[in-house]
Amino acid sequence: MKAGRILVSLALNAALAFPVFADAVVQSKAGHHDAFRQMEEVWPTPTEVRAASGAPGHEYWQQFVQYDIDVRLDDATRRIEGRAAISYENRSPDPLSYLWLQMDQNRFKRHSVSQESRDDPLGKSIPITRMAEITIVEDGDFGYDIKSISDGKGNALPHSVVDTMMRVDLPTPLMPGETAELVVEYGFNIVSAKHVSNRTAYEILENGSPNYFISMWYPRLAAYTDYAGWIVKAFLYGEPALDFADFDVSIEVPENFTVSATGVLQNPDAVLSRAERDRLEDAKTAKKPVFIITPQEAQDRTARENGDSRIWHYKAENVRDFAFAASPSFIWDAKGFETADGRTVMAQSLYPPEAEPLWSRYSTEAILQTLETYGRMTMDYPYPHATSINAPIRSGMEYPMLAANAPRPEKDGTYSRRTKYGLIGVVIHEVGHNWFPMIVNSDERHWLWMDEGLNSFLDELTIQEWEEDVPSVRSEPRHLARLMTRPNQQPIMTQSDAYINRGITGYAKVAAALTVLRETVMGREAFDTAFKEYVSRWAFKRPQPADFFRTVEDASGIDLDWFWRGWFYSTDHVDISLDQVTRATIDTKNPDVEAAWKRDQKAALPRSITAQRNDGMERRTDREPNLLDFYNEHDEFTVAPKDRKGYEKLMADMEPWEKELQNLGSNLYFLDFSNKGGLVMPLILGIDYEDGSYEEKRIPAQIWQRNQSRVTKLIVTDKEIKKIVLDPHLETADADMSNNYWPGKVDDVRIELQRRKTTPNLMQKMNDDDKQD
Ligand SMILES: [Zn+2]
Repeated sequence: MKAGRILVSLALNAALAFPVFADAVVQSKAGHHDAFRQMEEVWPTPTEVRAASGAPGHEYWQQFVQYDIDVRLDDATRRIEGRAAISYENRSPDPLSYLWLQMDQNRFKRHSVSQESRDDPLGKSIPITRMAEITIVEDGDFGYDIKSISDGKGNALPHSVVDTMMRVDLPTPLMPGETAELVVEYGFNIVSAKHVSNRTAYEILENGSPNYFISMWYPRLAAYTDYAGWIVKAFLYGEPALDFADFDVSIEVPENFTVSATGVLQNPDAVLSRAERDRLEDAKTAKKPVFIITPQEAQDRTARENGDSRIWHYKAENVRDFAFAASPSFIWDAKGFETADGRTVMAQSLYPPEAEPLWSRYSTEAILQTLETYGRMTMDYPYPHATSINAPIRSGMEYPMLAANAPRPEKDGTYSRRTKYGLIGVVIHEVGHNWFPMIVNSDERHWLWMDEGLNSFLDELTIQEWEEDVPSVRSEPRHLARLMTRPNQQPIMTQSDAYINRGITGYAKVAAALTVLRETVMGREAFDTAFKEYVSRWAFKRPQPADFFRTVEDASGIDLDWFWRGWFYSTDHVDISLDQVTRATIDTKNPDVEAAWKRDQKAALPRSITAQRNDGMERRTDREPNLLDFYNEHDEFTVAPKDRKGYEKLMADMEPWEKELQNLGSNLYFLDFSNKGGLVMPLILGIDYEDGSYEEKRIPAQIWQRNQSRVTKLIVTDKEIKKIVLDPHLETADADMSNNYWPGKVDDVRIELQRRKTTPNLMQKMNDDDKQD
């Protein structure tokens, strides 16, 4: 049976684009590409700081910072005024003669690299927000206003600002083990959310009161690392690379404001009412979220303005950043969550009236689900609270313990399906960022995918536990399949600012890749164990991409270099074609059996059209029968006695087990596959047999190890195969399923009937106008 042969032209095959890889070893003769080549020559050489296993090395180090900050949020001028006393502990083995700080607000300064380097292609429209940003930055007075920088003793320190970075020169090099003291007095104007899509912004609510979300608001120490020294890349888009720090922050706001922040509130008696404190206590063991500040109380508070101010005092330990939110209009609900290790974490949400009725229903519940799923898949949530703020930002943004989330219902209180699941999804995602990159402190400015990709993968697992069949897009390989064929693809291993399409390359493709690893390549148990190992090795430390790749292999015992190479370092896609199916049976060597088989095969061939039309033709041998001889009595398949004797001898010489195989009678199906997309993948085969049974075979990707263009898989069975589907569950992101069926399959689609369109001419339009008048 030779059926459904799909012709693969040589030209097509030659165009199969394998990535031009930085292979140190090249086969230049046959264009053979080694998709399974080990990654050691690409990954950094292991050091005492980063071991070859992917674990932190025995000499692992990272810096540590302490911030003691007094900050005033001036509501009248929409301004931050601050004084930051910073202790920088040099735990590296290197003397440091200067420190680098991140001055992210400078992104909104006129002529910042971020502003000037924006690509605004000419199209039919330009977003109004982009136009607003251009004009507001051009006319506004934004960015850090540095009043003084001194050491702890009042001596001024020389410094120079380089776009969003600032270098502070130390009088003497800071030796390993020493601590430098730094005091920075500063201020900046807060940008309006109306004009600039930012992570720090304010808005004016319907009731006239402000809603502030304040991040990137203090001079932050840049990360000093073992792999790149100081991370001094300007802030364009890529989020920060930071070291862990302890914070002691006093936030001065107008008296009627409610503040929520990273860290633990130190003076609840001074800023919370008795009722609020009692309700917080009750919330710890409540069955469902309870209001700490009710909608009515938030309304009353908004109306209460007396010009006084209050200080909210917070402390946070071992966090990489600090953010806060402030508004008089916050409604506040909370519920305690018990971690597996027996601590109570407060899940809570703060939001203005605009967020209702959506937020009181879903925000805190989404946090609780996140704490549960992420806690199980990674490690228990280590901080005292996880808070979701309805902030005037776009989409969502994460900080330790504090997540800013944008979705709101319509003004009339209704909301779309998209908004509902958008809110649940974004709360899970931003709270999930507490693990990546807040606990597993990856370097976002270099590798966006290490936090966004891993987090997108986990937020999908979480939302799957929320509700059955919840709209989920990011981690399903089938949704990525077509996108991965686009010509403007980039490898996942691209620097954060250089992504053309972050949402696809840095988020969705990583989530899909990890789903393929978990469901198709490794299996859930091996993947989950390895993923947990990565988190436990790198919690409160700073991993690099190779640390992730190496750890997953090291902990699972599965060689995945081919997977990292294809999915993370190349732009190949998956398109494997089931080209041909051939059934073979074993030659019995029995001349009578074989002759009969050959005769049947010949008889089964279609007769030539000429022979058919010649039927009934009178031939010469009909007229002269004496022309017929021996060969007219015996066809080419006639068996001679000598052949039979030969067969008997052969059988006599055979061992019993050889004879058994000789007469096996099974069907040998040879399945030919070709690789059209470039990515090697396991072959998942769904096989229907003629007897009505169904079987699935999962062939590991290593089948492609010696030939990445074509392979043949042999299936031995006593049954007859009726049909085969390659990737029956659409789990491998195969971009072209039309070549995955044997025999071929008819696709069902709907097409629209296009009607003739008529557009009125000018005279008709004028007449219409007349009629209306
Ligand atoms: Zn994110």
